Amino acid sequence: MPILGVIADDFTGATDVASMLVRGGLRTVQLIGVPASGDVRAAQAVRDTEAVVIALKSRTTPAADAVAESLAAWRWLKAAGATRCYFKYCSTFDSTAAGNIGPVTEALMREIGADFTLACPAFPENGRTIFRGHLFVGDVLLSDSGMRDHPLTPMRDANLVRVLQAQCSAGTRVGLVRYDTVARGAEAVRQRVAALRAEGVRIAVADALHDDDLRTLADGAADLPLLTAGSGLALGLPVWYERLGLARRHADAAGLEAMQGPAVVLAGSCSQATLAQVAAWREAGRPARAIDVRAVLAGAAAAAREQEAVLVWAREVMARRGGDEMAMPLVYSTAEPAELAATQAELGALEAGARVERAFAALARELAALGVRRWVVAGGETSGAVVQALGVRALRIGPSICPGVPWTQARRGSDGGSDAPIWLALKSGNFGAPDFFAAALRMAGAA
Ligand code: ADP
Repeated sequence: MPILGVIADDFTGATDVASMLVRGGLRTVQLIGVPASGDVRAAQAVRDTEAVVIALKSRTTPAADAVAESLAAWRWLKAAGATRCYFKYCSTFDSTAAGNIGPVTEALMREIGADFTLACPAFPENGRTIFRGHLFVGDVLLSDSGMRDHPLTPMRDANLVRVLQAQCSAGTRVGLVRYDTVARGAEAVRQRVAALRAEGVRIAVADALHDDDLRTLADGAADLPLLTAGSGLALGLPVWYERLGLARRHADAAGLEAMQGPAVVLAGSCSQATLAQVAAWREAGRPARAIDVRAVLAGAAAAAREQEAVLVWAREVMARRGGDEMAMPLVYSTAEPAELAATQAELGALEAGARVERAFAALARELAALGVRRWVVAGGETSGAVVQALGVRALRIGPSICPGVPWTQARRGSDGGSDAPIWLALKSGNFGAPDFFAAALRMAGAA
């Protein structure tokens, strides 16, 4: 039974924290959304785990919705056995002016009966550090970073104590565990937490500059029933959960069944990293086909014709002999910025994006019917569309291909018909080196 229940406010963030827990030795499953009551498959999927991460899409929804979903997630996790809760948000504290980190934290505290928790988005490995409550992205304050102009969650104040206080209700005081305390070790953190509690502080932002600081904080806070953080804090927790007798760590926590079966790569991201990855695949002479996005956008009949053409090509590639490598098709909609702007101009970015996602979803269903079992998908939204099309609701987290992107194992939903496992590498657009696709497939046992 899982002892740790994690609620993540977006999909790739969920995978990120799940990978961290696996690295720490906890067997971890990621669920997509809160399972319906009586969902037997979800209940089965979380057996033999120490941690379960529920991926929500609650970062930018109205605060009341984020609260309701997060509470539903925790109730499910608690019923599954979890006694510790971890609310995972972005390492740049992405939130709207109206929330949602403050309101969700307060609601979880009430539900769990926690009178104190930490808030620590620090992720030093990725350049996110906190000093005197101020969040830095690389060498600059959060408020001077690119996050300043984020379209949905512009972050214009780097002082997290102030940001979080503004998101919380009047009765909730937000304080700080300063770096000098963290540097003195876990006992000093515990004393500071006790002092803050006595002062009536209910949430404390915690400074952290190095992974060791996160380990210290994990030690000092492992007995708290609720933690709120980025994925970094999860790195240090498993050791302390083991010492507290809550969970056993496993050397093979990332172990999956041997990956096998036909493989495809689907790239629906137009991010720089994905552009480079598609180019590297093509330059290596591997089979690749661009989706004719104009046809996809032109209407149902043209889209269906294009889908059939892509499928005929993919089937032909997968039937090739002479080495696995040449039998793995890449299908991509990836376009350079100028081309992308032109297609978006006609329909608007959202509608164009939704239609391209639908095309990938339809293609995934057809490819699954052809027997594809190993999937590499580039793009956060594209991954969401593919996972939904395949009827996947639970991902067992396996070994990391690159930081934040693990191989995962899943079974398809009842609509999928088959009980054989499939394997998915779901990559946020901007992640990974240029040879990511080939590296992922090599790890998956493909040549
Ligand atoms: P990332 O992780 O890089 O943000 P996503 O998959 O989340 O990638 O988002 C990319 C969006 O762009 C998706 O909605 C996708 O359908 C859309 N898209 C991909 N290719 C094109 C294209 N050629 N023209 C218009 N939209 C596209």
